Amino acid sequence: MSDHPTLPHQKPSIYNLTEKDLTVWLTEQGEKPFRATQIWKWLYAKRVNSFSEMSDLGLSTRDLLDNHFSLSSMEEDTLQRSKDGTIKCLFKLADGNLIETVLMEHSYGLSICVTTQIGCNIGCTFCASGLLTKKRDLTAGEIVEQVCYMQKKLDLEPAKKRISHIVIMGIGEPFDNYDNVLRFIRIVNHPKGLAIGARHITVSTSGLEGKIKAFAHEGLQVNLALSLHAANNALRTRIMKLNKAIPIEKLMEAVDYYLDQTNRRITFEYILLKDVNDLESCAFDLANLILARNRLHLIHVNLIPYNPVHEFDHYKRSEPKAIHRFISTLRAQGINAVVRGEHGTDIDAACGQLRSKQLKARAAIRPVTVGIHP
Ligand code: SAH
Ligand code: SF4
Repeated sequence: MSDHPTLPHQKPSIYNLTEKDLTVWLTEQGEKPFRATQIWKWLYAKRVNSFSEMSDLGLSTRDLLDNHFSLSSMEEDTLQRSKDGTIKCLFKLADGNLIETVLMEHSYGLSICVTTQIGCNIGCTFCASGLLTKKRDLTAGEIVEQVCYMQKKLDLEPAKKRISHIVIMGIGEPFDNYDNVLRFIRIVNHPKGLAIGARHITVSTSGLEGKIKAFAHEGLQVNLALSLHAANNALRTRIMKLNKAIPIEKLMEAVDYYLDQTNRRITFEYILLKDVNDLESCAFDLANLILARNRLHLIHVNLIPYNPVHEFDHYKRSEPKAIHRFISTLRAQGINAVVRGEHGTDIDAACGQLRSKQLKARAAIRPVTVGIHP
């Protein structure tokens, strides 16, 4: 609870608490610990909007909760629906900051892409999020609420669809907000929480090597994606500032460590930028880097067609011919590679297109663009 950026007049979000936190808090308040299970059922299974709806709790317990916690620390500002079923929601947080969340339909279910920070300090040259320096981390509760809010929205529709997958790939670097992101994962994954299977959750990092190693010890079956984008230092440093501090050798040491410790698959994400990193020699660099890991079955490549960011004219999307050559080169080396599909391009919700014109206009800050991955 301590990391909640509450304004003086605000109560902390109840979604920030794990079941254990809530049990401890209730006990401290002289309440029965099992009330935590009841409360979680109301929050995550019945998905109520007020404490007064928690009808199997006594009035005094409901008042106690109401006096200490908030059930919503953000409000919907704008909602857009794409022709392909993608929904993008702009939320206004309690402190006035704006964030975006995207819901995407797939053949295998519904996935949600959540934001983890306001802005990003990593500064990748192809991503407009990197133009915004980080204002602050989101709390776990604010990340959980993005999922709960969208699920409540779906509950009101006749089809009553359920969000089955989560990608932590919205604005921000999740491993730069490690503790809150881990808390978020444990809450949504908990069988009494939203019960979203760990294998249905993917976290994407630009490559904070220390955190990749730490993540190997969390005992989670969550998928890890690494935004690699170039397989030699000169090129990677050119497109991702972070590579200066954490060069590829150091990053690969963390990847090897992660693979050794978990024996779990890792996905290398690779944005294809025309004539920058889509040359055949780049595909060979990538293939060699992967082959050197000696665990071909555990490393998959997701090629991402670059989505032009209006403010940048230094990059262009690779030609289909170049994409084909790149993937064929990888596959010829026995590497598992796919080109990622796109969602919500008509509402600027696709990979790298997520931007809020409202953000730009109202907050007078530079626009935000993030990668949205199915
Ligand atoms: N910060 C994390 C997660 C958010 S970015 C990370 O970098 O991994 C999610 C993905 O979107 C990253 O792989 C990122 O490289 C990609 N992305 C950013 N801008 C993009 C653009 N304009 N076109 C396509 N993908 C983009
Ligand atoms: Fe930050 Fe990821 Fe964008 Fe890089 S790609 S600036 S790490 S959000």
